[in-house]
Amino acid sequence: MSRLAVDGGVPVRDVPLPYTRHAVDNADIEAVTRVLRSDWLTTGPLVEEFERAVAAMVGTRCAVAVSSGSAAVHAMVDSLNLGSGDEVIVPALTFVATANAVAHTGAVPVFADVDAETLNVAPAAAERVLTKRSRALIAVDFAGQACDYTRLGELAVSRGLRLLSDGCHALGGRYAGKSVGALAAMTAFSFHPSKHLTTAEGGMVTTDDSDGAARMRSFRNNGIDADHHRRLADGTWYYEAERLGYNYRLSDLQCALGLSQLRRLGTWLERRRSIAARYRAALPDSAFRPLALVADVEHAYHLFVVRVLPDRLRVGRDQVFRALRAEGIGVNVHYIPLTRHAFYRHHFGTRPDLCPVAEEAYSKILSLPIFPAMSDQDVDDVLEALHRVEAAYRR
Ligand SMILES: *Cc1c(COP(=O)(O)O)cnc(C)c1O
Repeated sequence: MSRLAVDGGVPVRDVPLPYTRHAVDNADIEAVTRVLRSDWLTTGPLVEEFERAVAAMVGTRCAVAVSSGSAAVHAMVDSLNLGSGDEVIVPALTFVATANAVAHTGAVPVFADVDAETLNVAPAAAERVLTKRSRALIAVDFAGQACDYTRLGELAVSRGLRLLSDGCHALGGRYAGKSVGALAAMTAFSFHPSKHLTTAEGGMVTTDDSDGAARMRSFRNNGIDADHHRRLADGTWYYEAERLGYNYRLSDLQCALGLSQLRRLGTWLERRRSIAARYRAALPDSAFRPLALVADVEHAYHLFVVRVLPDRLRVGRDQVFRALRAEGIGVNVHYIPLTRHAFYRHHFGTRPDLCPVAEEAYSKILSLPIFPAMSDQDVDDVLEALHRVEAAYRR
């Protein structure tokens, strides 16, 4: 048996494979260049055009473009007009931006444990942390697989919560015949280069709630009510700061890139699904178990997450991670449970033992590379590296 690269052997790849990578083509570059030659670099016509295109794709009445996915989650939570002491339930296993958005508004993020098989928020766990102060629940469609919106929706209705979605993993995903983006009262998306389509930095909130959308439009514009187009048309200089806001605007350059990228989203989702299908076909009975698939969901595969099975290997996830990185495979870990982070421990008194399922998952999960431009050879390289590592460390 050949030596692993981590022990000085020859790696599977000399050029490392990243875990994700964006794809920009000439049409994208031309679209952005046209905006650079136009009158509107920002707050121009492409913002609304991009918003309309995303709203049409997910099937909502409104969409509000903002400067990042984090800004999208923040805008969405801010639009609920929460007070201090109000609580928002957030899954323990997500990117920090989900819970930070709650903390920014002065409300308290309360962490719910996840389902062991899907790593989506477990409805029963969410119910356990509900209190009289709970105002909203943010579902995160982990890795791109939609949550159980039927049960979460029932819980929200019966307990008077707003159901929000951080859909940053799941653009193009579907549940029970509906698109992610139209499954909760409001849904946040990210257009970071690691996500399904990119505007470099950027985000969007989709919703049917036009009052909420108006609050978010003001929020992204320093809290100012009427937009400058209306002031121009009305021949007036007057505007009013009606709430505290930020400059969270997305520029026309970025919206041009987003619109151009959106045309390829369907093809890209197919490619993500076919890479995932190849991983799934190759991994049964291996030491690496993919997350479970649930019925009635079309997965968007932002991530492909496996659990390293401790009963199959003499080493744990950390050593497998090092060995795969040494083979030139850009594996990653999504996520460190939020309950572990210093900010949440110090300000909200969290402890790792609050969410044991998230903790157990965290000790075993690995994200394998998945992005549309990956070739079949790249997928084979990942599988070969997994087989080598498993062979070397088998119990
Ligand atoms: C990427 C991501 C965000 C934040 O998006 P940015 O565009 O990087 O600000 C928020 N939540 C989740 C779950 C994400 O994956």
